[in-house]
Amino acid sequence: MPALRVHHLNCGTLRPPGGRLVNGNESPRVAARLVCHCLVVETEQGLILVDAGFGEQDLGARGRRHRLQLRLLGASLGEDEPAARQLRRLGLDPADVRHIVLTHLDVDHVGGLADFPRARVHVYVDEFQAAMHPQTLAEHSRYRPITWAHRPRWVLHRAEGERWFGFEAVRQIQGLPPEVLLLPLFGHSRGHCAVAVDTPQGWLVHAGDAYFHAGEMNPHHPFCTPGLAVFQRAVAMDDEARLANQARLRSLVRDHGDEVSVFSAHDPSEFERLSQATP
Ligand SMILES: [Zn+2]
Repeated sequence: MPALRVHHLNCGTLRPPGGRLVNGNESPRVAARLVCHCLVVETEQGLILVDAGFGEQDLGARGRRHRLQLRLLGASLGEDEPAARQLRRLGLDPADVRHIVLTHLDVDHVGGLADFPRARVHVYVDEFQAAMHPQTLAEHSRYRPITWAHRPRWVLHRAEGERWFGFEAVRQIQGLPPEVLLLPLFGHSRGHCAVAVDTPQGWLVHAGDAYFHAGEMNPHHPFCTPGLAVFQRAVAMDDEARLANQARLRSLVRDHGDEVSVFSAHDPSEFERLSQATP
């Protein structure tokens, strides 16, 4: 049994316009609420962060420099939300974060990188290429090089034929325990991945932005609010791949829902359920 302990953190509240068109159940006057769901994994070799959410610098001057993008996302960042601050509250030392495993490099997933300058930052090679050498206007506008201006210690990965519940997988990530895997799920961005973590309570799959609404994982009646459906389509680099990968995730939930718990980076109901269930 792996000796991992997992904490669920919301590292950035988003309040995009759209009310119930986004959340589905609130008054049109109430702003929708999304989270930036990150994991902290305690291992014998130190801490691993899965996605970095927004960071301390997004609360200050740097946030003002990409104010337009923060506003488009509806970022409503709380002073206590950066992962580094939450770690301190948990009695953990941010300097013990040795590895950060990223689903992709959008600003709401990498804003916190600079708070962990000594960590190795693991990302799929196609996503790294998209961010460092954007090819389309959409890629140029979605990535914010200022979030990696501190020159993180990048470690790039590609899938090499390993399988995990039928998915291609990057196993045995250099320096990480074998309980942490990268699963390529392209579509939302060029090299978007999910991150699977084997915990004492079963597999946790951080699906990043492969889907946004918990209803999309309902194997029998998939549902997404119109606002989130339009948004996902609009920002996808490859919408066909995104939809195909959503269907694969749904099949995983249908066939292995007792062994695997899948969640999106942004759905607040999944965040609340999983963070409350954590012992
Ligand atoms: Zn996101």
